[in-house]
Amino acid sequence: MTLTVLEGCAVATVDAAGTEHRDGHVAFDGDTIVAVGAGRYEAQREVERVDASGCLVTPGLVNTHHHLYQWATRGLAQDQHLFGWLTELYPVWSAIDAEIVGAAAAAGLGWLALSGCTTSTDHHYVFPRGVGDLLAAEIEAAQRIGLRFHPCRGSMDLGQTDGGLPPDRLVESTADALAETAAAIDRWHDPAPASMLRIAVAPCSPFSVTTQLMREAADLARDKGVRLHTHLAETREEDEFCRERYGCDPVEYADRLGWLGADVWLAHGVHLGDAAITRLAATGTGVAHCPSSNARLGAGIAPVPRLLAAGVPVGLGVDGAASQEAGQLAAELRQALYVARIAGGPEAMNARQALAIGTAGGAALLGRADEIGSLEPGKLADIAVWRLDGIGHAGIDDPVAALVFGPAAPIASLFVGGRTVVRDDRLVTAEEGALAADLAAAARRMANGART
Ligand SMILES: [Zn+2]
Repeated sequence: MTLTVLEGCAVATVDAAGTEHRDGHVAFDGDTIVAVGAGRYEAQREVERVDASGCLVTPGLVNTHHHLYQWATRGLAQDQHLFGWLTELYPVWSAIDAEIVGAAAAAGLGWLALSGCTTSTDHHYVFPRGVGDLLAAEIEAAQRIGLRFHPCRGSMDLGQTDGGLPPDRLVESTADALAETAAAIDRWHDPAPASMLRIAVAPCSPFSVTTQLMREAADLARDKGVRLHTHLAETREEDEFCRERYGCDPVEYADRLGWLGADVWLAHGVHLGDAAITRLAATGTGVAHCPSSNARLGAGIAPVPRLLAAGVPVGLGVDGAASQEAGQLAAELRQALYVARIAGGPEAMNARQALAIGTAGGAALLGRADEIGSLEPGKLADIAVWRLDGIGHAGIDDPVAALVFGPAAPIASLFVGGRTVVRDDRLVTAEEGALAADLAAAARRMANGART
């Protein structure tokens, strides 16, 4: 394998000590980082040296919550809160098929790569009958784009007839949801080191999933040794739903069902009282913070500074593009910092904390803190090289501040396991024009399907 050295650049390692170099190097051999340090790398063998002057090198960003299929249904229900938004979109989503999912996932993942993301999860929970293998379609898209992928096999089994929010035709039976989830793990989950593909178990939310499915899904995940993911404590309406139906708040409900633990990460965590935060910390349960989506739906501001102070693992997520049309992960660094400061003042979060939750924090949520999320010898070569010498960033002396406070930075290079996915701010694994054309066609088909 070729030894590649990025040098002449600023380096933010995001290791436990927060080590940074104003002029440093990162060397990787195949898919593994072999050296990170100040100055030039003194090689004992032939190396490919890459001049990264004018750039900041960080770990690739980790996206911990997404619904890729929603790239085909953006711009709808523009002024709705969560329940109204879902009620308007469920009929649109019933037109989904494998081709639409494949096109949306390829475009969505390509776009994530262009905003510095090297590992993404996805949470797919809409599985109408007879529309092809939706999970296979998105996995194929991730392999094509070249991102490390953690798709969550989602599910819904609580339709309107039983007091849930989704229409009955969009939900599966409890037994089918569990059987299909087990089959997905058996077919796709790769627990090996450096894995490019891991499955998680992910019933959708308290208002679309039965208590039985939540409990049995937790048992299934633990039996198979995979992680658990769901939406929780996103809106006041969800809180009211849980109190009315289950007599407790969402975190207490999750606790009762065996849904708190170091193998669980929850999307949103916006409406959390002190007792809930203490319980999340005590159990090591993670939170995927999605600040732009929470803003778009007017859901509220997650108490991230309090979560971090309590020791709750926190990562960043873009969330589905139907509730966050921008879908750029790097932009969420700034959004996270901004919403924390709107709620708690300028000391609530700093630029380095924002970068840490977007990298190491996300790696912890996905159970991969030993492999990704920081630049250290022995870790995987998942690396973002941000160009900071253009008009948007030049003159900001602190490169981390330039990245977080500044506009979306161009990607000089993005490596996933040492493989180049983006170069000079263009995807190299797929043709961007084709991705956009396929996406537009998928969105049209989705809209037409909803009308028939
Ligand atoms: Zn979501």
